[in-house]
Amino acid sequence: MAYDFDLFVIGAGSGGVRAARFAAGFGARVAVAESRYLGGTCVNVGCVPKKLLVYGAHVADELEQAAGFGWTLEEGHFDWGTLIANKNREIERLNGIYRNLLVNSGVTLLQGHARITGANEVEVEGQRYTAATILIATGGWPQVPDIPGKELAITSNEAFYLKALPRRVLVVGGGYIAVEFAGIFQGLGAATTLLYRGDLFLRGFDGSVRTHLKEELEKRGMDLQFNADIQRIDKLDDGSLKATLNDGRELVADCIFYATGRRPMLDNLGLENTGVELDPRGFIRVDEQFQTTEPSILAIGDVIGRVQLTPVALAEGMAVARRLFKPEQYRPVDYQNIPTAVFSQPPIGTVGLTEEQALAAGHKVQIFESRFRAMKLTLTDIQEKTLMKLVVDAETDKVLGCHMVGPDAGEIIQGLGIALKAGATKQQFDETIGVHPTAAEEFVSMRTVTR
Ligand code: FAD
Ligand code: NDP
Repeated sequence: MAYDFDLFVIGAGSGGVRAARFAAGFGARVAVAESRYLGGTCVNVGCVPKKLLVYGAHVADELEQAAGFGWTLEEGHFDWGTLIANKNREIERLNGIYRNLLVNSGVTLLQGHARITGANEVEVEGQRYTAATILIATGGWPQVPDIPGKELAITSNEAFYLKALPRRVLVVGGGYIAVEFAGIFQGLGAATTLLYRGDLFLRGFDGSVRTHLKEELEKRGMDLQFNADIQRIDKLDDGSLKATLNDGRELVADCIFYATGRRPMLDNLGLENTGVELDPRGFIRVDEQFQTTEPSILAIGDVIGRVQLTPVALAEGMAVARRLFKPEQYRPVDYQNIPTAVFSQPPIGTVGLTEEQALAAGHKVQIFESRFRAMKLTLTDIQEKTLMKLVVDAETDKVLGCHMVGPDAGEIIQGLGIALKAGATKQQFDETIGVHPTAAEEFVSMRTVTR
């Protein structure tokens, strides 16, 4: 049967755009349907605007440090409206770039909601299209627990478009988004409380990193409340919001921000017309080649719920394009040693195994850990400490994990990601000449085993 397209991609986000562009570049006839915004979550309500707001919040640190370097500044004033308007302008520019990237690579771009009507058929705005392969790359959506008053809370989607910076914010959650947004709100001047249901936030990160960040955020005056969860939210007469906690305490704020994870975006996708199955967590079940239980339908990115990061969605999109249309270049996605950063203030950078994971996997480990005050702070009163940590296999000398909390952690960890991918040993770290004076050189200077 002759299909309208070789590949029909649903969702023009990180994964979908990558797969579509490269598939078209390999000569395939490709369509992409996008219902909301070109570039998806990352460009519109994720990585990019988030990082711009993080930069905005970080200016407060620079201003605080300025006096130590001899600068006398008039009292600063922050205007949320200007930051958001400038951010919006940049996002619109990026939307245009994504449109050009797709159109110039020969992809047919369809604007509208796509619904799968059969194993090889998709409907967009009343028009049906057939395709040899359908790729679901519809991403995720914030998930807020079902508590009374949850409609009074906001998520990251709305935070990027708030009309004004709230004076008092409650952030709920203990993952990437909660920690990053707590830092944004706090840095820009809001009185910020972070509520997390467990003992310590950032479950799954290295224990030293979690404790270190907790201490640094407390030094900055953030109110961290662990083993705390909201039972209900009520609006008060003056417009502010009252959160009643599980233990009966009541907190009042102007904004309650939930970052309690993201569900796969499957709304009205038409999966009931296919043999596509979900896994026990509700994400689309795929095999190692991203094939769903319906042979003509593949899925990648956040909707499969593996590792919800843009570079991972990009790698999955590339793998699909190559497997379908350039099989001689196909390489499976390597999920080992994915470097990642949490853009908290100060930020976290991490790659490889945590100490806890290394021990659980049966490694005999040597831990090298260093805490120091960054050189830049020595002319200021700021007492912030940087943490660097190496987890090393005591038998093979291989570096299993690198972890950092401190300025530029994300920038520094990218290079260490290459070292770990190459299987570097501690001896090779030691033999690498440092860049002086930097904080990063500490990663090649730690000689004494901490534990
Ligand atoms: P998405 O980028 O979400 O794209 C899916 C697209 O599909 C959307 O445009 C959507 O409108 C469209 N769509 C959905 N259903 C349909 C339909 N039926 N028809 C047509 N179109 C449809 N990752 C990082 O690596 N670094 C970061 O710093 C980072 N920060 C983040 C900050 C926030 C606040 C959030 C929410 C996420 C962040 N992420 C970050 C995660 C990253 O954004 C996602 O992992 C990535 O966007 C996933 O890409 P995707 O292609 O799977 O989906
Ligand atoms: P995460 O899964 O990272 O964290 C969710 C948090 O919410 C956890 O602390 C979890 O607690 C808590 N939680 C879950 N359900 C409830 C509930 N019912 N009540 C109270 N707390 C709850 O999700 P995020 O929303 O922060 O981010 C989604 C994903 O997006 C991230 O995992 C990451 O992959 C990606 N991302 C990446 C960024 C980056 O690269 N810098 C930045 C932002 C997002 P518990 O641990 O106890 O389960």
